Amino acid sequence: MSDRSSAPGGLALIESLVNTLDIETTADSLGTADNLERFGITEADLPRARELRESLRAALLAHAGHAPHGRVTPLGELLARAPLVVAVDARDGAAALTPADGGPLLSRVAAAVAEALVAGTWTRLKACEAGTCHWAYYDRSPAGRRRWCSMQVCGARAKMRRYRAREA
Ligand SMILES: [Zn+2]
Repeated sequence: MSDRSSAPGGLALIESLVNTLDIETTADSLGTADNLERFGITEADLPRARELRESLRAALLAHAGHAPHGRVTPLGELLARAPLVVAVDARDGAAALTPADGGPLLSRVAAAVAEALVAGTWTRLKACEAGTCHWAYYDRSPAGRRRWCSMQVCGARAKMRRYRAREA
């Protein structure tokens, strides 16, 4: 689906991390061999990676104006533990915030947030309003007011529920 194309730049890392959990079926793919490699983590890192994932989800829900989906460690608290440095390219002077510690997942996420802040894209990464979904998506709508991961799936379901509520 075109409205599920991945987020730009480093936000794609965050989007794919958040979307390793399917809330409706509770299927969690974070611990698969592919994902351990993709996120640069080991089995031992899974509890902290899951904590980070849900803190991110709460921040993405907040971007869309929604309350957190549960009790989570505030994302800022986690990211404060990720050292970033300003790296400057000697050839053209271009500067970027990069992980100071070789880039474990937490630092890569922090760098991705910093990059998105500069690009003005951070608050466009949101989580779907539907309680059975909360899927991460990148809001490409002109006004930036999209509420669902997919109008065809969650948007249609929400409309149907409102319609039924009116009928009752
Ligand atoms: Zn959804």
